[in-house]
Amino acid sequence: MFVGHYAAAFALKGKEKGTSLGMLFIATQFVDILFFPLVLAGIENLKFVKNFTAVNDFNMDYYPFTHGLLGTIVWSILFYLIYLFVIAKNKINKKSIALIMALGVLSHWFADLIVHTPDLPLVNGDPKFGFGLWNNKLLTYGVEALVLILGLVYYLKKTEAINKIGNYIAIIFVVFLLAINYLNLFVLPANDDIKSLTISALVFYFLFALMARFVDKKRA
Ligand SMILES: [Zn+2]
Repeated sequence: MFVGHYAAAFALKGKEKGTSLGMLFIATQFVDILFFPLVLAGIENLKFVKNFTAVNDFNMDYYPFTHGLLGTIVWSILFYLIYLFVIAKNKINKKSIALIMALGVLSHWFADLIVHTPDLPLVNGDPKFGFGLWNNKLLTYGVEALVLILGLVYYLKKTEAINKIGNYIAIIFVVFLLAINYLNLFVLPANDDIKSLTISALVFYFLFALMARFVDKKRA
């Protein structure tokens, strides 16, 4: 899953206003931010198999550290502790902020579960899970768009614009994300080069997080 992960970021921000939407964009994508560099380093594995699914050529046959359920839980706990004892330590609602950030990290596994082929392990190896929505491009796009819009609607209900721009900036941002995903799924050719894939994935993840931070500053 790509932009659909940000549905959780919007929803979690709506739930706990003390969090940063920009950091929630990082949290919900955190295990993917680790995954691509770990593949490059030869620690996890991604094979490119032509038309492996309708959406991409990714055969992820070994990635327990980032996409095992246990691995994801460990990263979530790490986020929880870092927020509780470092980043949010002086805030009254630090426990709630830490919990929301941890849930952001954890949400990635469950969102991936919808779209991946059965390649997500609990710990390492079998059994592996995935409902395989990636076998249908249109459904993949539709479901990601739907959850993202639902997340946005909840965020808009729970936050208020502080100025004129704040009224529509979040909507423009989501339309932009949907347009990027359209290009990604229907227009651009499959990228089967791990180096350029890693660079473009990381650039987009951090760019989106910066944009989310900007959007969030226009709302309170
Ligand atoms: Zn993932």
